[in-house]
Formats: sequence, structure tokens, C-alpha cells
Amino acid sequence: MPITPADTSRYKGQALITLIYDDGFKSDYDLALPLHLEFNMQAGFAIIASRALDERKVGYMRPADVKAAAEQGVEICSHSYTHQRMVGLDDAALEHELKDSKDAIQAMAGRNVTTFCVPFSQADERVITAAEKHYDMVRIKDKKFTPVETPSDGKLVYSYGLKNDTTFDEIKALVDKAVAEKAWLTIMLHGVVKEKSPQQREFEIDSQLLRQMIGYIKGLGSDTLMPVNFADVRRIRAQQAAPAHYHVGDLFKSFKRFI
Ligand SMILES: [Zn+2]
Repeated sequence: MPITPADTSRYKGQALITLIYDDGFKSDYDLALPLHLEFNMQAGFAIIASRALDERKVGYMRPADVKAAAEQGVEICSHSYTHQRMVGLDDAALEHELKDSKDAIQAMAGRNVTTFCVPFSQADERVITAAEKHYDMVRIKDKKFTPVETPSDGKLVYSYGLKNDTTFDEIKALVDKAVAEKAWLTIMLHGVVKEKSPQQREFEIDSQLLRQMIGYIKGLGSDTLMPVNFADVRRIRAQQAAPAHYHVGDLFKSFKRFI
């Protein structure tokens, strides 16, 4: 059973959470996706076009995996064409990283790709402006929550990265803070290992911790913490901007006050 799409009509100002896995590692497909399916929880994969397309790159999802993940309800995002530092690239190279990756990843996924996750989270105004031309959302790493309603920063999404020494208590504290503040929390992950081990790479987490984290998030219930992908937040913002049926009700209420 694919992941059930988030019911954004149930958004009533509660906290939101997005889990996004960077770089298109095969371990995200093999170990994270089954957990997201088991718990029926939203997930996003940020794919590097050249690595998915290059058969010699071991440890990465191939285009067929990207397509299968999309069909299981995972939101597919672009994480650039070649994953280089974008600040200082000339115009043509910048355009290649942004536009050609979008075209290539859309072709793999068979879906529209509307979010760009900046490699190394290193972006300046020029990179952000260029990315915003091609995408509806641009994720950077700036450890704070992202405003849901009336986004003051336009298309920017902020995110927290997990590391191999991040503990469940640290994750729980962050999630609890988002719940208390009714904020949108985006967590960035990179690859999953089966068991905790000293060989774990800096940004990899183990599948037991991931299970514990997803279990905790889902246990709170979506009326308290709604798991969403980026496209869901765009839908929520559109709903907030044009709540036509609420307006009629409000008008009626104010009318009643006069009679
Ligand atoms: Zn990356």
C-alpha cells in the first residue's frame, strides 16, 4: 500500500513535520522507505541527477528506484545535477544544476519536481533567486522552523540535519518544541544503516533510531503533528490564502450580529 497522501483539509494550525532524505542513497530506499510505508508516513527523497543516472555509482538509487519510490507516495525533489557547491558557479553551470536536474529527475520519477534542496546547504542570494525561478520551494539548512502561513521568506524552507551522534532525546526535544510552537519542522537525513556502528558516516543514522523517531511522530497523531511533504505545505498555504467558504461563514456571523 502506498503512503496515504496527507489530508491537508485537516490542517487547523497544528505543527507540521517533513522528513527529507538527501543524496538519493540506496539505503534510504532499502531501509527508510519500508518504515515510512509501515507507519504510513510522508517522506521526501532529494535526488542528485548524475548519481542516479550513473550505473557505476554504487550505493545510489537508480532511476527505476526513484520511480518506484514516487509510486509509493514519496515526494521526489531535486538535489542538483552534480552536487557541487553552487555559490560562484557561472550562469550556465547554475542553470544546468537547477533546470537540467529538474528535467532529468522528473523523467525518472514520472512526476513534477517542485522543490530544490541546495547541495551542502550553501546558497547566496543569487543561487536562491535562480533556484526560485525553477522551483516552488527551496530548502536550505538554517536551524529554525519555517513559517506556514504568510511565509515571510517566500519559497525558502529551513531545516535541521541529523548526524550519526544525534540521540532520540534530542530529536524528541526538537519535535516537542515544534508541537508546542505549532510550527513546521523539516528534518534532513542522509542514508540509513541497519545497526548502529562505529563505521557509520557522519550524517547516517541507524534504522532503530529512525523507527523510534517515526513511531514517536506518528504516535502524536496528525491533529497534533501532521506529517507533510513540501507539496502539501503549498496546498495548505493556498487553502489559507483563499478560504472562500470561511469568508461566507464569517460574513454571515457578522451579519447576524446586526440583526
Ligand atoms: Zn547532499
